[in-house]
Amino acid sequence: MIIEKFSIGMGDRFAHQGEAQLRAVIAGRELGLEITPVWNKSNREHTIVHSEPDSLREEADAAVRALGWDGPYHVDADHINLTTVDRFIGASDFFTLDVADYVARPAAPEEIARFAGDARARGLAGALCIPGIDRPLEITEEVILATAGKFLYAVQEAGRIYRHIHERKGGFITEVSVDETDSPQTPAELLLILFMLSRENVPVQTIAPKFTGRFNKGVDYVGDPARFEQEFDEDLAVIAYAVKEFGLPSSLKLSVHSGSDKFSIYPIINRLVKKHGAGLHVKTAGTTWLEELIGLAEAGEADLIRKIYRGAYSRYEELAAPYSTVIDIDPARLPNPEEVDGWSCEHFAHSLRHVQANPAYNPHFRQLLHVAFKVAAELGAEYTDALKRNAEVVGRNVTANLFERHIRPIFG
Ligand SMILES: [Zn+2]
Repeated sequence: MIIEKFSIGMGDRFAHQGEAQLRAVIAGRELGLEITPVWNKSNREHTIVHSEPDSLREEADAAVRALGWDGPYHVDADHINLTTVDRFIGASDFFTLDVADYVARPAAPEEIARFAGDARARGLAGALCIPGIDRPLEITEEVILATAGKFLYAVQEAGRIYRHIHERKGGFITEVSVDETDSPQTPAELLLILFMLSRENVPVQTIAPKFTGRFNKGVDYVGDPARFEQEFDEDLAVIAYAVKEFGLPSSLKLSVHSGSDKFSIYPIINRLVKKHGAGLHVKTAGTTWLEELIGLAEAGEADLIRKIYRGAYSRYEELAAPYSTVIDIDPARLPNPEEVDGWSCEHFAHSLRHVQANPAYNPHFRQLLHVAFKVAAELGAEYTDALKRNAEVVGRNVTANLFERHIRPIFG
């Protein structure tokens, strides 16, 4: 199973926006942009909202049927590992093997020595010229040993997860993610990770490194765009080189996690992907749930949105903990619930909607609500009935956000 060149990961915490999301992809197609929708949901999300992986497949299939989508689409078991993958095997055809927790666990010393002694690894040592990168990558023997020390165990774990799924399922799309780690991977590290994956016979088609700068949930990029640009440019060159030299699938491409709302770097990504003729996968999962809240605010569901914010505010630490590497909230910048109770629904929507030019927009408020879907999940039917009641206004926000603020600037 081969992933298409351009794809967008869409997430839907409460499984009501599949059609609204697919409408955004269809709007792209009407502009000539062929993008494959991939519905993804992580084990973490399923656990928080008490849903089962089969429900995501049902939602995707239903949206595709309802709108008559005749293009490819996929269902991604996002951020799974050996302990969580089993219940995803039937419903998913795309698996994101998350080995970030295994980074820096040392592989056996003899395995590291064998890797460093591999003639092909030694061939990478020195000043390595990669087409598309101006300066040669300096890969010393120390770099090879250090990178093996840091990533070999994690890559071996990816191999274990890959084989576990393959034995039970046969063909599927393999993504490997190392994005939820503390430090970014350099292009040289990415090259060596891809080499390790090829040695481990993992047919990786999308790879999610951690890029330089902060990719916080639901808010813009925080970092130096010029540095990001150089790194992304080099990563794209590294991917093309790895396909050619290591025999990895020709569909191999970068996957940008926490990719929603990174408005300041979308023009860079757009330009570089075109420059390299590369493919791209961007995951935008959580942004949809915030559009639900915005739609509910627009619909005047004042009691419900205030209740959700109150719950989020009072449980800040609990809600933020699982997302610590991908959020930056300054609690001093969060309005207290009494203040929010006094806001109009319109002001609530403006504080939340990601329009930076709006003076009411508050990225701290937005990030807290981003991780607060558990509060809405606990409301059960009280929340989902409101989604049904206001399906039109909520869906309109979901579609417009994905199409205007994401698909168009990234792929257009
Ligand atoms: Zn991720």
